[in-house]
Amino acid sequence: MEASQCQVCGGNDCPPYAEQGAWRYRRCTDCGLVFLSPMLTDGALAALYANPDSGGTRAYFRKEASKLRRARGRVRHLRRAMAGGSRGRLFLDVGCSGGFMTQAALEAGFTPWGIDPDGDAVAHAEAHYPGPTYRVGGLTEFAAEAEQRFDAVYCSEVLEHVADGNAFIAAIAGLMVPDGVLYLTTPDIGHWRRPRKLTDWDVFTPPHHCLFFSQGNLRRLLSRHGLEIYHRQWAFKPGLKVLARKIGANP
Ligand SMILES: [Zn+2]
Repeated sequence: MEASQCQVCGGNDCPPYAEQGAWRYRRCTDCGLVFLSPMLTDGALAALYANPDSGGTRAYFRKEASKLRRARGRVRHLRRAMAGGSRGRLFLDVGCSGGFMTQAALEAGFTPWGIDPDGDAVAHAEAHYPGPTYRVGGLTEFAAEAEQRFDAVYCSEVLEHVADGNAFIAAIAGLMVPDGVLYLTTPDIGHWRRPRKLTDWDVFTPPHHCLFFSQGNLRRLLSRHGLEIYHRQWAFKPGLKVLARKIGANP
């Protein structure tokens, strides 16, 4: 794919949109996707997350009680979506970090798995929240090898970090059972409260965020991979929080 082509709709009319330092973003005139261009390579992204800012990670873990509270609230949406209940149903947290959501899923009766490229975060999860199955690594590698198919998948604030949104969502969809449910969150560049000036937005942190979605193009990306959004949560902050169901059988 050309560096200037939109990965959601394939559109070629994607003029420069924003820049910060050496980083440049384009915006698709057709679907509104905003993307880093040139995009980072997978190798550059892996290097970026192999050495995460440990100071930031420690601050993140300090907010443990509130993270757990939020995770318990969010897991209810997935539990409610399970016909026949959550007991023993396979749950996957893509980007599980310190294990807050896998812990909440365990409490809700799910059989949780968590995956994250950040080994320190996974070590924290294993030490503080034993019970779930944890993996260190990338999603596409996991999807290529895993034999499990998950009833519920949670993926919060990860999609914006990936270079290839199609490969990422295809991997998620491939890991789900037919009729499985995905809870996904990502920043919303089309939100009414997003700062007018992109560089004033706290999530505009190149090159960590490669893709910026809005409601329409997120729906379009998911539906390309057989995932139909059936609920969008209202969000006061500029973020998208959606629930999607996998339509149809596995190939
Ligand atoms: Zn587009």
